[in-house]
Amino acid sequence: MTQSPNPVPVVVNWHLTEACNFSCRYCYAHWERAESVKDLVREEHHVRALVQELGRFFRSGGVAQQFGLSGAQPRLNIAGGEPLLFSSAVQAAAQQARRVGLRASIITNGSLLTEDLCDSLAPHLDMLGISIDSGQSSNNKLIGRVDSQGRLLDFEALGRNFEVLRHRNPSLMVKLNTVVNRLNWQDDLSSVVDLVRPGKWKILRALPVIDQSSTVTDDQFQAFVSRHSAFRSISVVEDNQDMLESYIMVDPQGRFFQNSPCSAGYQYSEPILDVGAERAFEQVNFNASRFLSRYTNDSGGAA
Ligand code: SF4
Repeated sequence: MTQSPNPVPVVVNWHLTEACNFSCRYCYAHWERAESVKDLVREEHHVRALVQELGRFFRSGGVAQQFGLSGAQPRLNIAGGEPLLFSSAVQAAAQQARRVGLRASIITNGSLLTEDLCDSLAPHLDMLGISIDSGQSSNNKLIGRVDSQGRLLDFEALGRNFEVLRHRNPSLMVKLNTVVNRLNWQDDLSSVVDLVRPGKWKILRALPVIDQSSTVTDDQFQAFVSRHSAFRSISVVEDNQDMLESYIMVDPQGRFFQNSPCSAGYQYSEPILDVGAERAFEQVNFNASRFLSRYTNDSGGAA
């Protein structure tokens, strides 16, 4: 493949845990587990070792060259489940990322953010992504964005947390992710977007990877997108097909994985810390042209 004319940074999404305090119906954060292998998040030295190995591999330039990506500084995106259930491991991973020359970001459902956590985390992050599907309590309950005690995301607290984040790190990029699904496609999220003030709003369509019950029709998805056309300048719309094989993803046990179009589930590599990132990366499909087209449309990050 030829070198891309535009700088396209590599973004590696590490799903640090599949645990979450919410239980969204469409959640795809479930991985096949090897019983003998513990999640790396249980031991912070494993967290640091994995980030170091990813940094070595993705900083080497080999991957960028092989897939026609640029040599721009790669980014480690820490996702879940809900990564802030393990806030100290998230801090360790973000700090280690910086140490080995990676940029760092997290994706969170926002419910476990506190002003203290925002204060300590913000300086280590280049980007914070927050996933919100609805501003309405009733819909959030139906979607499953509620914890076992019935607690929902507190939007007032979220506003204060964003003030702290922006104060501590004025260059922090804030991203909002919304999954359009059967329960929220009629919602108006304008007040949520105004509260979060994201630099980018990624509007995704519920994937039929796990089951079909949350998916929306083309017309329903388009209706949601059109209703929010006032935010066109910050919106990135991502349809199902764009989402297959175009992220670089690592699971909680430290294996590369991909959502394969040939089967209902995922395809996994061996653990990266056992065989090294080179060999593990060769064991999964990676669709570089789809990765590139995402960035052509999106000028920023993944996940
Ligand atoms: S908040 Fe995210 S990780 Fe948690 S259940 Fe919902 S989709 Fe899954």
